[in-house]
Amino acid sequence: MYNQLNFQCENEACGNNFTVPRKMVRRGNTIIIEARCPRCNRHHRYQLPYEQRYQWIPAIKDLLLRCEFCGTSNIDNYNEYGSSSSISMSFSHEVIVKILINCKKCGRKSKKVYNKFLWDEIKSQEYTKSMLIKHKPQSSSLCPFCGAYFSPSSQVCPKCHSRVRCDNCGVMIKKKSAKFCNKCGNKLVSDTEKLFCENCGAPIVPGAQFCVECGNEIDN
Ligand SMILES: [Zn+2]
Ligand SMILES: [Zn+2]
Ligand SMILES: [Zn+2]
Ligand SMILES: [Zn+2]
Ligand SMILES: [Zn+2]
Repeated sequence: MYNQLNFQCENEACGNNFTVPRKMVRRGNTIIIEARCPRCNRHHRYQLPYEQRYQWIPAIKDLLLRCEFCGTSNIDNYNEYGSSSSISMSFSHEVIVKILINCKKCGRKSKKVYNKFLWDEIKSQEYTKSMLIKHKPQSSSLCPFCGAYFSPSSQVCPKCHSRVRCDNCGVMIKKKSAKFCNKCGNKLVSDTEKLFCENCGAPIVPGAQFCVECGNEIDN
């Protein structure tokens, strides 16, 4: 199970809305991401299913080339050191790529270790294109109420549970707790009347044990 699609800092006193990955490796069907909050330094570790990468990569893509100390994006300012499969015993079946960022803002060095195949896939145009076709993302998939990312198929924000999309026409809802869609006039079911997956925000059929969108187990 995973519920960290937002990659926000878990330190409540900090509340920074993103953490910066420094390691992204594959263990079987699991991708392990280690990240640091650039504001409070707290370390985070995420375990995400490789098969569902189309759901979580959009949320993390923009964070992969940020400075882990100040959070600045260094998307056109990094060095990538060829693949290596021998960094240590535990990486023996994995080809990794090392990325060095000399932050253009704070001047500190971030060293990152990423699974090469996943990294290449994330960088490639093809990935972006196939993702666009697959999910037809709307211009925005950020919750207007809490700023969390949500997958393009979500109707409800997985973080704050506000309704973010009309279930009839799919338009983004900009007003919190709106009762009717401003585009099609559909009556919007309030967040409490209907069940939604707390992982991806997809609606849940009564009695279902797993979410049909992301496979998350539903606690009834
Ligand atoms: Zn923090
Ligand atoms: Zn920096
Ligand atoms: Zn939200
Ligand atoms: Zn509508
Ligand atoms: Zn789900």
